[in-house]
Amino acid sequence: MLRFFIIFALFTSLFSSEVERHRWLKDESYLLFLERVKLPIKPLYYNLDKDDQRLTEEMRTGIHYQILRDGNGQILQALLPLNDELQIHIYKEKNEYKFEPIPIISTTKTEAFSVVITHSPHYNIMKATGSKKLAQIFVASFRNSLNFKNDIRKGDRLVMIYDQKYRLGHPFSMPILKVAMIEMRKKQHFIYLNDDERYYDEKGNEVEGFLLARPVRGARISSYFSKRRYHPILKRWKAHLGVDYAARRGTPIVAAGSGRIIYAARMGSYGNLVKIRHDDGYETRYAHMKSFRRGIRRGKYVKKGQTIGYVGSTGRSTGPHLHFELRKHGRAINPLRVVQVTTKKLKGKSKKAFIKLRDSYNKSVNLHLKNATQFQKIPQREEKCYFYNPQTPSP
Ligand SMILES: [Zn+2]
Repeated sequence: MLRFFIIFALFTSLFSSEVERHRWLKDESYLLFLERVKLPIKPLYYNLDKDDQRLTEEMRTGIHYQILRDGNGQILQALLPLNDELQIHIYKEKNEYKFEPIPIISTTKTEAFSVVITHSPHYNIMKATGSKKLAQIFVASFRNSLNFKNDIRKGDRLVMIYDQKYRLGHPFSMPILKVAMIEMRKKQHFIYLNDDERYYDEKGNEVEGFLLARPVRGARISSYFSKRRYHPILKRWKAHLGVDYAARRGTPIVAAGSGRIIYAARMGSYGNLVKIRHDDGYETRYAHMKSFRRGIRRGKYVKKGQTIGYVGSTGRSTGPHLHFELRKHGRAINPLRVVQVTTKKLKGKSKKAFIKLRDSYNKSVNLHLKNATQFQKIPQREEKCYFYNPQTPSP
């Protein structure tokens, strides 16, 4: 952790130099970026290992990044956020540029608001919060259980409680819904995020997702999703943007959801890769396949549960397994948070724990209703750099 303090100290001591905040341009790749800002490509890309090279593909349009220059306009450091937890740190040391993935430091706040519905949940949340994300999350959470169109009356209310991440005063990343409540003709309907990271209704029945639990039947998870992970042997920060299922070579892999195949070929460290595009901006990826099933090719429509290929070890892989990824609008998300585990019903101890959680959530929902809690916009402070405070605790 000493390392972080060194970086912080470095940043602060150089604070007289200018820190610029930019947004990642549309269609700009990491390589194009290096070229445009005149950073050397060899040490910052070609000399990296495959994992780090793949990480650089995670840069997304519109993301805020920082550049620190010296008095002559030379770049001293750059911070490029890859997701909400990990960022690329480019820095100059003894006249050479170095590359390292490091964690992003952020704080999480639990926020809540209530809204009276005059038009539709989507419209009124947008109007009250100005956040498309919040409106979409709320509507999507009830998609499979309720019909807003027919059963909402003017004057029905809704409450949303969620976690929002902040980086130096700026909200970033997707909010995580904890409770959603909507009245329909005054009757309350709920969805709760349980301690097992899945969503349930009032009765403890899981809210149905749209994907299959596992794209490989009976397979064991050998590696979980992580936006940042410290590799104890390599002593570096990495990410694992999917879930690995260990299975015997040749085991069938099925489509986790219905959709159109948009890629079925070899792709670098992914090996034999299939990408399927689903509704609502979702995409699933199946990597390291031994082979594709006959007829599986770009443009073909597949149904949930249909075999698309077979477990193998092609690409960068140490043994036969399926590397499974879920993306929404290009961003990797944890598949285990979205998949449907044959619609789980909570029982026994876990049901008891859920009921306790549910009742405390209901209390806060009703308190927010009573107080008509307004959405509060956090004032945006113009921060120069998120490494500003050397006292920031390292993770
Ligand atoms: Zn993997």
